[in-house]
Amino acid sequence: MLNIITKLMSENDCYKAGRTITPRGITIHSTAEPGMRAGVWYELWNKSASEQGGREVCVHAFADDEIVMQYLPWTMRGWHAGGTDNNDHIGIELCEPAGMIYTADFDVADYDTARFQPYFDRLWSNAVQLCAYLIRQYPTIEINEIVSHHEGFLRGTASGHHDPEHWWKFHNKTMDDFRAAVARETEDK
Ligand SMILES: [Zn+2]
Repeated sequence: MLNIITKLMSENDCYKAGRTITPRGITIHSTAEPGMRAGVWYELWNKSASEQGGREVCVHAFADDEIVMQYLPWTMRGWHAGGTDNNDHIGIELCEPAGMIYTADFDVADYDTARFQPYFDRLWSNAVQLCAYLIRQYPTIEINEIVSHHEGFLRGTASGHHDPEHWWKFHNKTMDDFRAAVARETEDK
């Protein structure tokens, strides 16, 4: 059962800008901060950009293996894609498991797939359920517009990041797998 807790980041400059969107898609990210769960981001990001060293970022929700924390209204314009996908995509950050390690040049080091599989499976299920929930709420969202940050980058609608495929590949999962799972979940309900 999907557990969504709403706690709006009203002190974030993105929230204060208050622009709205008609959601047409969803951008899937992963945090690159292993072990930082969905709830801890509120303290870090619920403040102005100047209080974050000039960092202008806000995303609609973070998911971990237990909960979804919603931090922006779904129809508010977020700052997550670094490109035009911000104009009509809901942004979701997936929390990476504690113990996953990055090298200095941002490769994933010695990933232990078996160790992290249970976490990954629970997170995947939460993310699929969240996207299906959003599609039911906003029928303007198209399954094919559920894209990764990396896919947005490849087509020129998001900044040059590689999440979350840089991590999912260790679990043999692709964005096509994800879209198919969301489609199945949407039909089931
Ligand atoms: Zn990203």
